[in-house]
Amino acid sequence: MFLADKDVNTLVIGDGRSMMKSAWVGNYLGIRESFLGANLLETALKQVQEDRGVTVLNETVTAIVYAEDEIRVTTEQGTYLSSQLILANGQGPVFGTAELAGVEVIENDEPYVKQKIKIDDRCRTTRRNVYATGIAVGVASQAIVAAGHGAQTALNLISDRVGNRVHVHQSPKKD
Ligand SMILES: Cc1cc2nc3c(=O)[nH]c(=O)nc-3n(C[C@H](O)[C@H](O)[C@H](O)COP(=O)(O)OP(=O)(O)OC[C@H]3O[C@@H](n4cnc5c(N)ncnc54)[C@H](O)[C@@H]3O)c2cc1C
Repeated sequence: MFLADKDVNTLVIGDGRSMMKSAWVGNYLGIRESFLGANLLETALKQVQEDRGVTVLNETVTAIVYAEDEIRVTTEQGTYLSSQLILANGQGPVFGTAELAGVEVIENDEPYVKQKIKIDDRCRTTRRNVYATGIAVGVASQAIVAAGHGAQTALNLISDRVGNRVHVHQSPKKD
């Protein structure tokens, strides 16, 4: 959402194994009623696709290849080229995906997730132009934390592109 708001041409690739599909969430600040994680996910996907025009592909990433300034992400359906990449692959398949991306993985102190992708304070992995976010990098396993960290990562990426700190703020229209 933040990338699209700053006119960054964005492609989302995921294969639908989000932990949110198993969650009944009663601690998402600003939403008082408990809700099915799957419903939030569905709304979020509509928000980026229908409201922001982002393309979302339901595909599994099987290879990531680096060629000079180009990153080639391959799924069983095709190959997609990009100049930058954000890994947001969650907990289960994190190490397979980190291995595909050739990024460094380090020890984690979370009870159920023993490893995480190593990032610096701007969410950059050990690979140039590859960022990582969410529980894959060891943030607390809470939906609001993962979402917030995703926003932080996107803003870091945009800020790195333009060379200064970027925010997405709006104010209500005045009469
Ligand atoms: C049973 C349960 C209950 C929970 N209850 C709560 C709760 O009450 N409150 C709360 O705040 N949080 C809760 N959580 C935690 C919350 O769901 C997670 O913290 C959050 O989903 C993490 O977000 P994420 O984006 O980092 O990872 P995920 O949501 O897991 O997303 C990772 C995505 O990456 C995709 N992916 C990975 N590898 C590939 C690949 N190679 N190719 C394509 N796609 C790939 C996966 O398919 C998935 O869609 C619960 C989790 C579980 C399991």
